[in-house]
Amino acid sequence: MLDAVVVGAGPNGLTAAVELARRGFSVAVFEARDTVGGGARTEELTLPGFRHDPCSAAHPLGINSPAFRALPLERYGLEWLHAELPMAHPFTDGSAAVLSRSVAETAASFGPRDAGAYRRLVEPFLPKWDTLVRDFMSLPLTSLPRDPVTLARFGLVGLPPSTWLTSRFRDERAKTLFAGLVGHVMAPLNGFATGAIGLVFALAAHARGWPVARGGSQSISDALAAYLKDLGGEIHTDYEVKRLDDLPPARAYVFDTSPTALAKIAGFGNHYESFRYGAGVFKIDYALDGPVPWTAKEARTAGTVQIGADSTEIGNALRAASRENRAPDRPFMITVQPSVIDPTRAPAGKQVFWAYGHVPSGWTGDLTDALERQLERFAPGFRDRVLARATAGPPQLAARNANYVGGDIGTGAVSGLQILLRPKLSLSPYGTPHPAVFICSSATPPGPGVHGMSGHNAAKAVWRRLRQS
Ligand SMILES: Cc1cc2nc3c(=O)[nH]c(=O)nc-3n(C[C@H](O)[C@H](O)[C@H](O)COP(=O)(O)OP(=O)(O)OC[C@H]3O[C@@H](n4cnc5c(N)ncnc54)[C@H](O)[C@@H]3O)c2cc1C
Repeated sequence: MLDAVVVGAGPNGLTAAVELARRGFSVAVFEARDTVGGGARTEELTLPGFRHDPCSAAHPLGINSPAFRALPLERYGLEWLHAELPMAHPFTDGSAAVLSRSVAETAASFGPRDAGAYRRLVEPFLPKWDTLVRDFMSLPLTSLPRDPVTLARFGLVGLPPSTWLTSRFRDERAKTLFAGLVGHVMAPLNGFATGAIGLVFALAAHARGWPVARGGSQSISDALAAYLKDLGGEIHTDYEVKRLDDLPPARAYVFDTSPTALAKIAGFGNHYESFRYGAGVFKIDYALDGPVPWTAKEARTAGTVQIGADSTEIGNALRAASRENRAPDRPFMITVQPSVIDPTRAPAGKQVFWAYGHVPSGWTGDLTDALERQLERFAPGFRDRVLARATAGPPQLAARNANYVGGDIGTGAVSGLQILLRPKLSLSPYGTPHPAVFICSSATPPGPGVHGMSGHNAAKAVWRRLRQS
């Protein structure tokens, strides 16, 4: 009998498996797709030699993850690559606000009236970042906070809506960049704890940057999988689990799946009925015949570029997709340009380019034209650079990965109390109605992103249980 079986080889499933194997437990992973990776993968989606990331591309949470930092992933081929600027947010006048590793450079890009306010916002947290991120990503507390005072101060600033936080800025530049940061998890700007979302992304940039993985995001998953195999773990691909009976006997079962899928597989009835899924995304992977012709020079050297003319436009786009059930006319976009730093991703002189905007859950339309009209506002001539594009709306995303229900790339809305309390109100969110069955996907705290912390926290719950039995 195995000690643990993990269903799903996404970053959280693989991290949970590694953490258990490192502690001497026997582990096997079962993955529906023919390769490991879930939302951290790389594929030739357009033309030969163009290596695209269909899901995650920029990794502020990955490089800052206490779980990943404790694993020897570099030894297994993971190399973080940093662009000159982690992120730029261009404006229609050809200028840009930036999120730089340097607080001073970032503050200066907001203009003289907001530079001081920005410094006062982030500087108190930066010296304590490593402890704060560990405490924050272990919420609800899987271990006692190491620095409860800083965590409480962070809560005071972050738990109110982001619009409260940005009211300390007087000009649009800082407000807009910050609204875009909140948009990375698709939350409406006036939602509970959205200030914390923006603040985490900003602090992550100052602490360690927003890198891409050399060769593509697949190298994160491949490093986790190679380490797991070295520890004696097994990985079975092309193995979709439909019932608990499909799995070998084990002392614990850990699901890197949506709560809905888990309830079906394990026969938990309506246990997760109150769990809400969020809006979807419409993703485009581009093969380009050269760099994106950004008007703003800062955008040409940034790993990530946010697109949204001002905070009102961004707020409208997020509200349209998440509250009004319609595709936005002017979508807020997140774009990543790995080729700025990684020549291995495309043939010489060519580039891969990654972009998405938000759409309602399950939306079946085509957002390509609206997204490219947005790009043309900030990079005139963009369309002329396109050699090929691969598009994926909610139905395609959900078909590729069952966790992206309705195209929701967070596996569960990151809004309201579900930001913190997911998949349901419980002191042990990784436990389920069955004492030997656990859930470790991004439907559990700390939520979406390639950081492995849900897997790490769930593994703790599993090994406590295995030690007792
Ligand atoms: C378009 C897009 C862009 C993104 N951008 C970023 C980004 O830039 N940075 C970032 O940090 N994050 C990003 N994310 C989010 C990130 O990819 C996810 O939050 C992360 O992958 C979640 O990890 P996970 O292990 O919980 O689940 P997943 O990565 O979704 O993995 C779940 C795995 O379980 C498998 N599975 C599901 N059901 C079964 C079953 N019944 N039997 C067997 N296997 C099963 C799936 O095939 C999958 O491999 C993005 C996601 C998408 C889709």
